[in-house]
Amino acid sequence: MIEKILVANRGEIALRVMRTCRALGIKSVAVFSDEDRDSLHMKQADEAYHIGEAAPAKSYLNQNNIIDAIKKSGADSVHPGYGFLSENDDFAALCERNGVTFIGPTADSMNLCGDKMRCKAAMLDAGVPTVPGSPDLVKDADEAASIAAQIGYPVLLKSVYGGGGRGIRLVNDESQLREAFESVTGESIAAVGKSAILVEKFLQKTRHIEYQMARDKHGNAVHIFERECSIQRRNQKLIEQTPSPVVDAATRERVGELVVRAADAVGYSNLGTAEFLRADTGEFYFIEINARLQVEHPITELVSGLDLVKLQIDIANGEEIPFKQPEMQMDGYAIECRINAEDTFLDFAPSTGPVPRVTLPHGPGVRCDTYLYPGCSVSPFYDSLMAKLCAWGDTFEQSRTRMLAALGDFRISGVQTSIPLYKTILNTPEYIRGDLSTDFLARYDIIRRHEAELKEERQGLAAAALAAVSTRGAHRAGMTKAAGPPGWGEM
Ligand code: ADP
Ligand code: ADP
Ligand code: MG
Repeated sequence: MIEKILVANRGEIALRVMRTCRALGIKSVAVFSDEDRDSLHMKQADEAYHIGEAAPAKSYLNQNNIIDAIKKSGADSVHPGYGFLSENDDFAALCERNGVTFIGPTADSMNLCGDKMRCKAAMLDAGVPTVPGSPDLVKDADEAASIAAQIGYPVLLKSVYGGGGRGIRLVNDESQLREAFESVTGESIAAVGKSAILVEKFLQKTRHIEYQMARDKHGNAVHIFERECSIQRRNQKLIEQTPSPVVDAATRERVGELVVRAADAVGYSNLGTAEFLRADTGEFYFIEINARLQVEHPITELVSGLDLVKLQIDIANGEEIPFKQPEMQMDGYAIECRINAEDTFLDFAPSTGPVPRVTLPHGPGVRCDTYLYPGCSVSPFYDSLMAKLCAWGDTFEQSRTRMLAALGDFRISGVQTSIPLYKTILNTPEYIRGDLSTDFLARYDIIRRHEAELKEERQGLAAAALAAVSTRGAHRAGMTKAAGPPGWGEM
């Protein structure tokens, strides 16, 4: 039985895992880099071990240092969170060899899921539809070009080891394809030391719809509904919601059966996500399995009432999933906004540094998973995700308006954030009517509209300030700064 978990991660997800540990009476062990000496995750754990320098390769990706911390702490298991070592089958195997429970699928199953080509092949065998493309890896640009000519441009070149939106390139013709072949190869070698590329038909106006899945060591598998993650930038998710506006009960069940089949096909155990693209015609195509806890798992928790980290621990303990598919009911609507430290006007450049002040949003149906506290800082070494803001409602409209209120309450000083952009998106008629696609931002010219809106808002504030000056009298003009809404000025 799991009694002490080392959380091999940082930031909000480390805190999220520790919260469940505490609720279950399980001891938690943190690891931290030089950069994270003042982080909340190390303060909230029962024990914390230093594992190296700031650069991920020297700490959160350093398997030996993490195994040392496991041995020193006497932890009996590891929770990898997402990112870092979470989908590294060598690390899962190293844990297995050291007699430590890796909270996730077996190393073999993870290895299969981590290879987009082998995984697609397994899906085809199991009768799960995948995006049309090369039947195998392409060995060079010539082969890629001949396959692209067969399936027709535009196509995507994908590194089979890619992730987090990296290692994917859209190409419209042969010369672009040859150029992209070089860059995807280089990027993949730089990231994981090897490269293997597949060619896939680029589907136009698609939605990213994924399913939470769970399978225990006894072979029981369920899906825990879908999440629509179509609001993306450069293939990276920004806003997610569940249920999807285009998934009705019959579709949920039909695709859910494919998901269970997919989990069986790769011998999956523990929690995972099966990602699909939904074409405009309504067909679903499998794209990949993420063999870990997903960033956006909280919205599934909000509509299912489950603690998914607890379910992971129970499955790792060898327990059976305590419910059957027909018993599962979805309750309400939930939205997640990924609050990133980025400047949306500077091509989403990372914005890092001290955060002197923070006010977290609260209220009915609001959940905020974050590592932020007043006086913390956002490090340039790690992911730009600072917080995940979720809002639940009885209706979609209630979840949306609660989200807008919470975005308004959320104040973060010192760094630029994606909060203002999300307010714009959630107010667009296109978002409200559920007209979503992975190219939503470009298709509806969202960044320019956002800029125009902010400009108008500023002009409105200036006009209000002028009006205040004229009523109060010119001698009090020095006070006009206070005429805007209360806030922290340039945030
Ligand atoms: P999710 O669907 O859970 O959001 P993502 O694909 O966005 O999954 O990945 C989650 C996080 O994992 C990313 O924010 C990123 O930090 C990290 N990540 C995953 N795969 C890679 C990769 N190949 N290279 C770099 N970072 C990755
Ligand atoms: P990653 O491992 O980086 O998450 P995925 O294969 O899951 O890579 O794809 C990430 C995103 O790229 C998808 O959510 C979608 O927006 C886009 N994408 C991937 N494959 C296709 C495709 N064949 N056609 C159109 N868009 C795609
Ligand atoms: Mg993906």
